[in-house]
Amino acid sequence: MAWPTILKSTRDRVLPPNLANYNQFRESFSWRRAAQELTGLPEGNGLNIAFEAVDRHALGAARDHLALRWLGKNGEVRNFTYAQLMEQTNRFANVLQELGIAPGDRVYALAGRIPELYIAALGTLKHRAVFCPLFSAFGPEPIRARMTIGRAKVLVTTQSLYERKVKSIRSALPFLDHVLLIGEDSLPPNLPDTLDFQQTVSHASDAYTIQPTSPEDIALLHFTSGTTGTPKGAVHVHEAVIAHHITGKLALDFHPGDIFWCTADPGWVTGTSYGIIAPLTNGITSIIDEGDFDAERWYGILQSQKVTIWYSAPTAIRMLMKAGAEMARQHDLSSLRFLASVGEPLNPEAVVWSKEAFGLPFHDNWWQTETGGIMIANFAAMDIRPGSMGRPLPGIEAAIVHRKNDGSIEEITEPEVQGELALRPGWPSMFRAYWEEPERYRKCFAGGYYLTGDLARRDQDGYFWFVGRKDDVIKTSGHLIGPFEVESVLMEHPAVAESGVIGKPDPMALEIVKAFVALCPGYEPTEALRRELLGLARTRLGAVVAPKEIAFVASLPRTRSGKIMRRLLKARELGLPEGDLSTLEND
Ligand code: ATP
Ligand code: MG
Repeated sequence: MAWPTILKSTRDRVLPPNLANYNQFRESFSWRRAAQELTGLPEGNGLNIAFEAVDRHALGAARDHLALRWLGKNGEVRNFTYAQLMEQTNRFANVLQELGIAPGDRVYALAGRIPELYIAALGTLKHRAVFCPLFSAFGPEPIRARMTIGRAKVLVTTQSLYERKVKSIRSALPFLDHVLLIGEDSLPPNLPDTLDFQQTVSHASDAYTIQPTSPEDIALLHFTSGTTGTPKGAVHVHEAVIAHHITGKLALDFHPGDIFWCTADPGWVTGTSYGIIAPLTNGITSIIDEGDFDAERWYGILQSQKVTIWYSAPTAIRMLMKAGAEMARQHDLSSLRFLASVGEPLNPEAVVWSKEAFGLPFHDNWWQTETGGIMIANFAAMDIRPGSMGRPLPGIEAAIVHRKNDGSIEEITEPEVQGELALRPGWPSMFRAYWEEPERYRKCFAGGYYLTGDLARRDQDGYFWFVGRKDDVIKTSGHLIGPFEVESVLMEHPAVAESGVIGKPDPMALEIVKAFVALCPGYEPTEALRRELLGLARTRLGAVVAPKEIAFVASLPRTRSGKIMRRLLKARELGLPEGDLSTLEND
């Protein structure tokens, strides 16, 4: 698709990284000082995410700077300056006010990546209601379940999603007082408590004064990806904006004038923390693409929009690799300055490939729905160690710990020893609860740490290396093996597009390593190839760690946010119940 180009590029400028000297910056960092980069509500009325993201720019010199540029599926373009975004989000906040929505009430959104979703999110935050995004590809049951957990009071959705997914469950949502429908046509008559989004918003006043907001007021309710089990509703507060802002600046290296594209959907935390909030608080321009993944389309966007910073995920990068580096090289991607990835381990192969395709490496970073923002990252100024997640952000204390049988926690200080990745609580975007699941929340903390449920190791220079999720780790003949290491070696073979590795129960070894492999176009799943892959793995990993079995599959089961669901590969292998599938893609 040929997008019109109207954005300016920053590529000709020499930009020193925001985090130039890691150790020095880390030592002098404090969250209090980081908070001073924000303005706070006028007259000392507290801290509100939407004010920091929109109003403080709209009320200042940046009022006419482009905040959001939306690219529609079919080639439409809509631009919003900071001033226009302030006006639109004020209107939405007034709509909530008129509907009698109180601070703390939950406003859900079920929509694709369309401007109304962004307006609703920021308007909800202005009104101090709690914004809860749902991924638009969810079916009626996951929608019903999540709306019931958070007792949604308002739902913003599109006419077609309502027809297909909400209508059939509406009677099961007695707490849902209002639905705002986004649509081209006028509304079908006789839908109780249902309003036309555009009409309602355009009739509301464009002036809104944000009421005093405590940094601890609840702002966001985010459901996790459900990779390992039932999704949890992580609760975040307005103070999180300090972390969104500073991590955008330090880990994604936002500079004034940047054009940033976060490919994540706001249905997942990345699409909110970095797809909405962080670029806006930093006053830069954010690209929103309504379309789904398509390699040609994506390269077209990077080129025509002169994207300077691109934040994506391993699953998308693997798909781009499948399409070939040649396709990337056919585009002028010279505006790109910084590439980052999150969501899953980024195989070293992908980092090497991205240098070949873009002349720039992808910088992996690690965080979770629960942490609200980036915690560990490869920074712009740092040498990347392909396969490593990088080093903790300033203000973040990360450790490798061992949970002893009696429940106590022992910190592992020796390098290269694997254990659970743990963080010292106290950063602003840390989740404050799992919605109405206090016991589940409590269990995440021990010995003064938040325990992440991921296994990792730290090398002697302080870089962290992901080993696997605790639930995915394979126990074989007295060894603990992380699937990531095995998957990464298989990925080195040109035939392998992606792989998922599990432990398969075995009477002798407890578990054996089994790999599922999806091939690149042009390769056949032959016995000879299987033997070649087994041979490669044995040479690179040794006999204990190398897979004993390899199965060729057309594709791997993934969450809708793109993560390989190893628990499902395992359940299917063993003929066990498949568990919660609400976040499974293409089910
Ligand atoms: P659930 O908790 O419901 O099983 P989830 O953990 O996949 O789902 P998210 O919060 O979206 O939900 O994902 C965070 C997890 O994703 C991390 O705990 C980690 O396992 C994985 N992850 C994120 N970034 C990275 C990374 N850079 N390297 C390795 N793993 C990562
Ligand atoms: Mg998780």
